[in-house]
Amino acid sequence: MKKMKRREFLKTAGVAAIGAGCVKAGISKLHAEEKPSKDKEFQPGEKATTSGVYDVFHDKIDGEQHAHQHQVIVMAGTVFPRCKGCRQWVKFRLAQQTVFIDKDPHFET
Ligand SMILES: [Zn+2]
Repeated sequence: MKKMKRREFLKTAGVAAIGAGCVKAGISKLHAEEKPSKDKEFQPGEKATTSGVYDVFHDKIDGEQHAHQHQVIVMAGTVFPRCKGCRQWVKFRLAQQTVFIDKDPHFET
């Protein structure tokens, strides 16, 4: 048997465990709908398809940086808002997919 790297093993085992938990909890459909799109940039008015931590990239206003890059937590289904400073020019990109604890099959409700 080919030796599996620990990291690969954990990744595989983790996905299997979560998948089994989802079926048991009857919420596999929910997760199937949440396909992470790591490279996609979202604009204000678009809906988040994945819950997680998003990088926020602000635009310059008259050449001035009004806000540094930062991160926010966004729930799937949330419509990305406009920035008070750079308005519709702000961009959001998924940095880390997460599951809200209420939707995590590992915990009792
Ligand atoms: Zn801004």
